[in-house]
Amino acid sequence: MEPLRVSLVGASGRMGQAVQDCARRHPETFALIGMPGRGDDWTAAFEHCDAVIDFSLPETTDALIEAVVAARKPLVVGTTGHDDEGRGRIAQAAKSVPILLAANFSVGVNALFWLTRKATEILGPDFDLEVIETHHRLKKDAPSGTARRLVEILADVRRLSLERDLRPGRVGNAGPREANEIGVHSVRGGDVVGEHTVLFAGMGERVELTHRAASRETFAAGALRAAAWLVRQKSGRIYDMEDVLGLREGDS
Ligand code: NAD
Repeated sequence: MEPLRVSLVGASGRMGQAVQDCARRHPETFALIGMPGRGDDWTAAFEHCDAVIDFSLPETTDALIEAVVAARKPLVVGTTGHDDEGRGRIAQAAKSVPILLAANFSVGVNALFWLTRKATEILGPDFDLEVIETHHRLKKDAPSGTARRLVEILADVRRLSLERDLRPGRVGNAGPREANEIGVHSVRGGDVVGEHTVLFAGMGERVELTHRAASRETFAAGALRAAAWLVRQKSGRIYDMEDVLGLREGDS
């Protein structure tokens, strides 16, 4: 079988380098055929690829989706930190071309998503919910895309509102904790690749679910795996890594 021809946006960044390293270790499966930068004609650059992978900045999204729609190519978005409008534009483009948007491509983190949903269901409303994430000193967005996804899962199971119930950090006279709060805390420092803990704190006991990434390889390998999966899918909705791994509720 011919290798999957991948075009990579953000190739010079930390994740871009990791995707390049991973693809080069598997030349029988993946061929990087384009790494366009700022100022390049992206639609033309995407013409001969099977799929596009993006690890750049949320500000790049508009130009990127315009180009993949024009070139009619599937897009894997690894970039995090999009606002609601950016996500809306990605959802609109997903009606025309297959798009997968994943806050985190690691199998372990996607298992953490699944376990978080189950633990929240089992433990019920008497447990206080807090998410703590730690990343390297250069990370731009906070909280991380993975922490946002964990918070979405907690809010979904407990039927809470992110606008009303999210507490990003606490400072000053924050007062006693409300039962419905979901705390989220971002720690930054050094070269930490990425750590996430979901804390379920009850009276007399607590449960902590933690994932620690030791290298970016797991994200890079997951993004390439997602691209190989996405080229076989139809447009219509935004996919995520839980679709690739068959972790959706109702999947057997
Ligand atoms: P980085 O700052 O090292 O790299 C970003 C790269 O994008 C830079 O090289 C920059 O030059 C390039 N870039 C920016 N605008 C561009 C444009 N218009 N055209 C072409 N290139 C452009 O950041 P990073 O650590 O590699 O992370 C990149 C993104 O991926 C971040 O949003 C980060 O949060 C996210 N991320 C996602 C996962 C995941 O599993 N989904 C894992 C790690 C990081």
